[in-house]
Amino acid sequence: MERIIGIDLGTTNSLSATVFEQGPEVIGVEDDSSITPSVLSWTASGWLVGQDAQERRISHPEYTVYSIKRLMGRNLEELGDSVKDLPYQIVEAQRQLVKVRIGERDYTPQELSAEILNKVKMQAEKALGELVKKAVVTVPAYFDDAQRQATRDAAKIAGLEVSRIVNEPTAAAIAYGLDEGKDGYVAVYDLGGGTFDISILELSGKIFKVVATHGNTQLGGDDFDQAVVETLKDRVQLKHPAAEFDDPESLQIMKKTAESIKIELSLSPETSYSFELPKLELSFEGVFYVEEFESLIAPMVEQTIESCRHVLSEAKLSLEQIDEVVLVGGSTVVPEVRKQIESFFGRPPHVAIDPYKVVAIGAGIQGHLLAGGRRDFLLLDVIPLALGIETLGGTFSKIITGNTTVPIEESETFTTNVDDQTSIDVNIFQGERELIKDCRALGQFKLKGIPPMKAGYPLVEVIFRVDASGILTVSAIEKRSGKKAEIEVIPFHGLTQFEIERIMEDSFEHAVDDFNERQLIEFRQTAERIFLGIEQTWDVAENTLSKLECTEILKQIDAVRQSMKGQDSQELKLQLDMLGDLTRPLADNAMGRSILSELKDGVQLNG
Ligand code: ADP
Ligand code: MG
Repeated sequence: MERIIGIDLGTTNSLSATVFEQGPEVIGVEDDSSITPSVLSWTASGWLVGQDAQERRISHPEYTVYSIKRLMGRNLEELGDSVKDLPYQIVEAQRQLVKVRIGERDYTPQELSAEILNKVKMQAEKALGELVKKAVVTVPAYFDDAQRQATRDAAKIAGLEVSRIVNEPTAAAIAYGLDEGKDGYVAVYDLGGGTFDISILELSGKIFKVVATHGNTQLGGDDFDQAVVETLKDRVQLKHPAAEFDDPESLQIMKKTAESIKIELSLSPETSYSFELPKLELSFEGVFYVEEFESLIAPMVEQTIESCRHVLSEAKLSLEQIDEVVLVGGSTVVPEVRKQIESFFGRPPHVAIDPYKVVAIGAGIQGHLLAGGRRDFLLLDVIPLALGIETLGGTFSKIITGNTTVPIEESETFTTNVDDQTSIDVNIFQGERELIKDCRALGQFKLKGIPPMKAGYPLVEVIFRVDASGILTVSAIEKRSGKKAEIEVIPFHGLTQFEIERIMEDSFEHAVDDFNERQLIEFRQTAERIFLGIEQTWDVAENTLSKLECTEILKQIDAVRQSMKGQDSQELKLQLDMLGDLTRPLADNAMGRSILSELKDGVQLNG
């Protein structure tokens, strides 16, 4: 299968993702190297792209290009004022298209975007250890044909074949597997570095359609940073009234400080900061409180909520008709942003996948599917392999069957097989085979302090509970005494999709053998119990049965013992059934029945 990766070509950051054996994930060694700032800078030795270029925004502003996505497929007229703040020079080329002038040369936005795509591609190749030729590339839902075509061209220049252009909100919804869910409406709220958009998707028969989109191409996390910068300036000026901050270096230092204050305040209610402005020969420090930050961004957040109202009315939908809300973009990490979204939509949004990565991950899944991959990696909400415990003779008793949707709780009651057993080992396994030696051990615990009782008398309820995040809690309670114990495990930790598939295949392959082996064990146990029962009721037998009948029983016991040594479960069953027929008159006797019926108790736990 030739890999098709997913690429989120963002205004601020770009990254790629694919479906690994363990499931979909961003491609890259660590978060740092997996995310490429969408910035490039021209140097004597060619383009620098990503983090290195980011550093040059201060030192070489006229050689450094960012927010190139805004220029894709646009002409000067369409761009209007929106690019007047960009420090690099934008010139008009033929057919009104724009180019970026760097030094002596003019570059199309496609060529510049291609440099970013190429960097993302190379990083993916390095991390995957294979060549990458095809990709699914995402674009905002509001991109028109010219903008989409420009994106395709950029990929072509970067040596990538575009398998599909996918809308960013659609990719995000796919990342959450919503395309597999029931038909309805999904709202995708995307607040990135420099842009905001809200899209309403309609899901019908696994296909998403964008029914309405609205937003602001000049609103994002950068504006949050800018608001913090203004506050910092005011604070500095209170102490140093003559201070001026117009030089790019000072502005950049304050902007960096502001962004880290913002990110820190996503985690804690206050943060201290300090920075130095070499140009002004001053250093400054202080504390920023989340309340201050929240009041700074409140009008901007309100503007995004206004957009949400607008898009709903455009789509002619009421709030109640929205089934799911998905968050996208680094700025949706801000708790106040989340709070406002939740209170507007009246439901908690999907946030389980990092909003930074969710678009790339959705694109990676889409690429995986287009390449012919299967969508069974979503272990998120399904238990792929059965979960259960070891029972007598090394058999595996499944409590939760494979392919069950979580959260789930199942229980089963077991008993002991030895008199006066005061503790029970609960050995937890997962697998699809009949014997625990072919399954994977997950954990074990002991249920202690059971008062001495006859074998078969204790009632041990074993409860398996898997919560929504896949964590398994196993508890056991002896009902007559109320003794209880439990353990928590993560069943699929470290188990790759590949391994799961192998386990499933194994279980099909060995199904017949396993079944025979399990039955052998079970029938041997049954035989032992019947022997015990006969032994205990032999007095009754001798009194109620004829001499011939008694001899027949003894002969049949020998026959069963013979079969028990063999490997044929069906033969053993046959002999057991014959013994059953011979002892039926005995079992019908009142006293005999009370003992034999107890011995009939199904599965018993190991001591
Ligand atoms: P884009 O789609 O425009 O490329 P991203 O989704 O990458 O943008 O978001 C980038 C923005 O997210 C930046 O403004 C960055 O400061 C902001 N951001 C990243 N992490 C956090 C965080 N933990 N708290 C608040 N903002 C964050
Ligand atoms: Mg984005």
